[in-house]
Amino acid sequence: MAAQKLLLLPGDGIGPEIMAEVKKVIAWFNEKGGTGFSTDEGLVGGSAYDAHGQAISEEDMAKAMAADAVIFGAVGGPKWDGVPYDVRPEAGLLRLRKDMELFANLRPAICYPALADASSLKKDVIEGMDILIVRELTGGVYFGEPKEITDLGNGQKRGVDTQVYDTYEIERISKVAFDLARTRRNKVTSMEKRNVMKSGVLWNEVVTETHGRGYEDVELDHMLADAGAMQLVRWPKQFDVIVTDNLFGDMLSDIAAMLTGSLGMLPSASLGAPDPKTGKRKALYEPVHGSAPDIAGTGAANPIAMIASFGMALRYSFELVDAADKLDQAIANALDKGLRTKDIAGEGDTVISTAAMGDAIVSELDALTA
Ligand code: NAD
Repeated sequence: MAAQKLLLLPGDGIGPEIMAEVKKVIAWFNEKGGTGFSTDEGLVGGSAYDAHGQAISEEDMAKAMAADAVIFGAVGGPKWDGVPYDVRPEAGLLRLRKDMELFANLRPAICYPALADASSLKKDVIEGMDILIVRELTGGVYFGEPKEITDLGNGQKRGVDTQVYDTYEIERISKVAFDLARTRRNKVTSMEKRNVMKSGVLWNEVVTETHGRGYEDVELDHMLADAGAMQLVRWPKQFDVIVTDNLFGDMLSDIAAMLTGSLGMLPSASLGAPDPKTGKRKALYEPVHGSAPDIAGTGAANPIAMIASFGMALRYSFELVDAADKLDQAIANALDKGLRTKDIAGEGDTVISTAAMGDAIVSELDALTA
């Protein structure tokens, strides 16, 4: 069996509370699911700053580089608002993304049947939705140079950001999207703005060329990103995998995610390039939400985004598709029973704590296996 080395980085705020629930799930899979995960733990964010004066220590960075998957909680909080910029909590996450070269960000938007009524869209539009947004994470306008504000000397200033993509960046993210589509419903929609942006013209060309070199079995569509945003709220079920750049991906994934309800429900994965020898990708799995300092320590945090992030690790780092499906089903079953943390509770629902939700999901895993 492939090595199954996990590095757990709980971080700050609710991070350690939701990570505690993932540990229960990992223990369950090791005891009853036939996995052999070994776990190590490290500090990141404010907790690392308090211990080492850095947002992540070199030792923990080395552990992350050696792990088969990093499971990351969340970082930040008012306690560290005044720390120097280069050691602020977020710097730990940015360092991990940079050194692990995590260029592909995966954000699923799944509608759990039990929460279909909680969406801002009509139930029939949203029920059964299962989209995966693949966002390019290390290029584009957030990183392109020049990036500056210049003083024009006439009382005016000019702000400049540069949208820039090279062929290899578009090619590798398209391959991730096509590979993932093959494990799902085999359809990719690429989104850009080729009508007004040269980088969009190149994006469209390179995605099409990459598709023609061994991915012809995958259905490929192209859509302008603004039209894509409209289609996402009009009829989201038309999409399987959406691949797009850093800027459009940032927005489209937030739109898609919020169709399904609370921040506490949203997992994500960030993947790097495959290792030339082993074919394994470096990978980091984390909930979309932050450290929620407003509810830290109260037992109110929803652990589902964190647990579902571990589910993505089962699926994408360890190819344990049955285990990942089982975990998703266990989450859905707990929700079907009306169990809710405060953030997703409606009238008449039973509100339970972070730990009780973790326990409920583990019980559902037991029930699915019995
Ligand atoms: P946040 O996501 O932490 O919280 C936003 C709101 O959602 C809060 O009301 C919070 O209570 C609620 N919420 C978030 N996760 C929840 C969960 N699992 N269960 C129930 N409710 C949940 O965003 P914020 O308040 O803007 O930021 C708080 C801190 O987190 C800041 O320091 C910010 O920089 C940091 N942050 C970190 C990350 C990360 O680590 N990747 C991401 C975003 C924000």
